[in-house]
Amino acid sequence: MPYLSKLIEGYRRFRENDWARERGRWSELAEAQNPRVMVLACADSRSDPAQIFDARPGEMFVVRNIAALAPPYETSSGFHGVSSALEFAVTQLSVGEILVMGHGMCGGCAAALTGQFDDTPPGEGHFIADWVRILKGASEQVRARHAKLDSSAFLDMEREGVKVSLANLRTFPWIAERERSGALEQYRSCSADCRSGRRNSNNRAYHDNIAGHSRTLR
Ligand SMILES: [Zn+2]
Repeated sequence: MPYLSKLIEGYRRFRENDWARERGRWSELAEAQNPRVMVLACADSRSDPAQIFDARPGEMFVVRNIAALAPPYETSSGFHGVSSALEFAVTQLSVGEILVMGHGMCGGCAAALTGQFDDTPPGEGHFIADWVRILKGASEQVRARHAKLDSSAFLDMEREGVKVSLANLRTFPWIAERERSGALEQYRSCSADCRSGRRNSNNRAYHDNIAGHSRTLR
């Protein structure tokens, strides 16, 4: 049976259950969306913010990519998919908060740390290597801190990835401006661990160091 059939079964369940239960909410959303938070998460199939946060329809504006990365602010020509999503969420939807959600066992962070796709042609890892160059400086620091690339090094890389994204968010002038004025309340960060099913966001030293006024999500 093609996998699409399984997806269609899921759609039918959604129509019968969740959609029917939230019918009023979907009617409101047909007029306009008004999410209060933007979530930047990894494309990894185990890291779905709507599922992890048990979100209601229209509650979160979500952007997912390899390793949950925010690029730095750049005005060069190009296809700035993540930047356009940030611009829309912050300047058009006026979200009040941005959450960067890293996760355990992140393949994108691993690629940055090991350099496994460096110097590969398109179709063999080139686009992945090119994208995770955002983490180049951070991965060099992580490699310098760890004698071998064991699980603690990968965890370190995953945490550094979130820090890089948070720092890059502040390079967007309209994000920095709104943070200063209080329109964009705060940045938060957390990481989801698919083995324990927990959100690891209680490391105050780590989060406070980066997010300044972030608070735990647990
Ligand atoms: Zn990932």
